[in-house]
Amino acid sequence: PSITRGVTVEIPKVSWEDIGGLRDLKKKLQQAVEWPIKHSAAFSRLGVSPIRGILLHGPPGCSKTTLAKAAAHAAQASFFSLSGAELYSMYVGEGEALLRNTFQRARLAAPSIIFFDEADVVAGKRGGNSSNSTTVGERLLSTLLTEMDGLEEAKRILVLAATNRPHAIDAALMRPGRFDLVLYVPPPDLEARYEILGVHTRNMKIQDDVDLRRLAEDTELFTGAELEGLCREAGMVALRENISATVVCNRHFQTVKESLKPALTKEEID
Ligand code: ATP
Repeated sequence: PSITRGVTVEIPKVSWEDIGGLRDLKKKLQQAVEWPIKHSAAFSRLGVSPIRGILLHGPPGCSKTTLAKAAAHAAQASFFSLSGAELYSMYVGEGEALLRNTFQRARLAAPSIIFFDEADVVAGKRGGNSSNSTTVGERLLSTLLTEMDGLEEAKRILVLAATNRPHAIDAALMRPGRFDLVLYVPPPDLEARYEILGVHTRNMKIQDDVDLRRLAEDTELFTGAELEGLCREAGMVALRENISATVVCNRHFQTVKESLKPALTKEEID
């Protein structure tokens, strides 16, 4: 397998408007990501050192990846993505090589954002058991720490890590100069669900009888990913009913909604 497997380089097209809800969070990310890149002179003038790493945590499907991409888009930064699980599953030494190689490419393509999904798989707490697999994780973690410590401010590289299990992250990563900002990305509340449904029906032809406000009320516990799926599937139902259909109607949305059961439970989000 090639050493660049699993790495993509691009400036993402997603923007803040493509993300429903999360107003405060978007503002925080804007300041932490966009400002140091766009106004680096102001930071040096005041002698303020920008954040190097941000940890996003929260349940799956609630836009951690999308937020990282939107931040990169807003800052016009190159976007590199790595998956902890993928690194972990590689042959001995290959995961570390891919990590180093990604940081190297990010330096060359700066300003850059390195998105590190499923970070807990690699950045999990050290010690505990002495099996061979722990050693793989430890080596990857120490490579990550070395790379993060080596980031120079002038190079404008930021690491955004994501996890569903923040408590599993090794304390070494939470020291100053590493993940300085920890942000919780919650499942969408009513208003956010309404906005998410708006985002994902924006380009759809929908009948007047579709009441997104009502649909948002009826989809408690749905994640952004599930709401997106609901909209797409409603369109599919309309097409299955009639391949020449010109609009998607309320009943199509209802059919899909009734067939879906959210993966999150109330206990998980309280
Ligand atoms: P995972 O932990 O599984 O990697 P994630 O938190 O990174 O999930 P994303 O991959 O960003 O979630 O989101 C999955 C899909 O759900 C995306 O395609 C995105 O369009 C949609 N989505 C999630 N949240 C929102 C939101 N707030 N607004 C609009 N779309 C959303």
